[in-house]
Amino acid sequence: MNLSLKKVSALGLCSGGLDSMLSGMVLRKQGIKVQWVTFETPFFSSEKAEQASKTTGIPLMVKNITPIYLKMLTDPHCGYGKHMNPCMDCHALMFNLAGKIMKEKGFDFLFSGEVLGQRPMSQTMNSLRYVEKQSGFDGYILRPLSAKRLSETIPEQQGMVNRELLMDISGRSRKPQIKLAKEYGIKNYPSPAGGCLLTDKGYALRLKDLFDHQDAYAERELHLLKHGRHLRLDNTTKIIVGRTQKDNEDIKKYYDPNLDTMIKVKKIPGPIVLMPNDGSKDVRVLAASIGVGYSKAPEITPVEVLVTTPKGRETVRVIGVPPKEIKHFLIQ
Ligand code: SF4
Repeated sequence: MNLSLKKVSALGLCSGGLDSMLSGMVLRKQGIKVQWVTFETPFFSSEKAEQASKTTGIPLMVKNITPIYLKMLTDPHCGYGKHMNPCMDCHALMFNLAGKIMKEKGFDFLFSGEVLGQRPMSQTMNSLRYVEKQSGFDGYILRPLSAKRLSETIPEQQGMVNRELLMDISGRSRKPQIKLAKEYGIKNYPSPAGGCLLTDKGYALRLKDLFDHQDAYAERELHLLKHGRHLRLDNTTKIIVGRTQKDNEDIKKYYDPNLDTMIKVKKIPGPIVLMPNDGSKDVRVLAASIGVGYSKAPEITPVEVLVTTPKGRETVRVIGVPPKEIKHFLIQ
């Protein structure tokens, strides 16, 4: 037995998908001690990675990276993909952060489940090279599933990894991974797509609106973008109107009474209207009318609306504005 191989340890980026799982299994099979890290922001969660860790028994660290991620997201070097997804700079940042953990905790190298040619933008040979160079850990990033199609990494050159036992998968077909999953006895894994809100058209539009109108934003404002209808009323004010009971509950979770205004029609079923960071008196009245328009209140009838601002509560009487008349406010 080669004792030096037993000491090798690798830190992988884990998205929780099948490719992440397989990359860890392939390395583990050759005696390497593997661990994962997964990063969380309001745009993607650690849920799938936690499930993958349970399925495979590979230990997982979860790190919230929202502040540093936002800095990159507002001005990514390589720009965005189809929506607000800065995939290349996102990968480079994640490998940079993982690399720092690698150094701090004494891992020998980094790895991920990326497969050459699987995604048109972020997994071409050029993109993989870009990520390696920008990460600050060039040579230390191993992609076990495509390794035989890529240049030898430092851990391979130094004999820490047996290149012969790595894979040569490339392209968009999932067949080789499904075959490998059977070999490793992995039965439950999520579908490859989804999981990142930056690739979602509606979310991306709301995020772009936020970036266009604010220089700074709290994490809760990024969570709020997931729920309800969003209406921009002026340059400094927008409102969020619940569409369903679930929306109303989710919106309330991120309501900050010290900063936001909450508007609710009295005695008549209707949505929660949240105005993050408050607004002027006139805009609050407009928001109250919009809330009435989405409620079950009778048309052209003044109704009472409770407006709770950071400074106090007041009741205003307004007539509803029908939703079809405020379409131009909708961020969509
Ligand atoms: S889809 Fe989202 S999480 Fe994945 S690389 Fe792109 S920006 Fe990052």
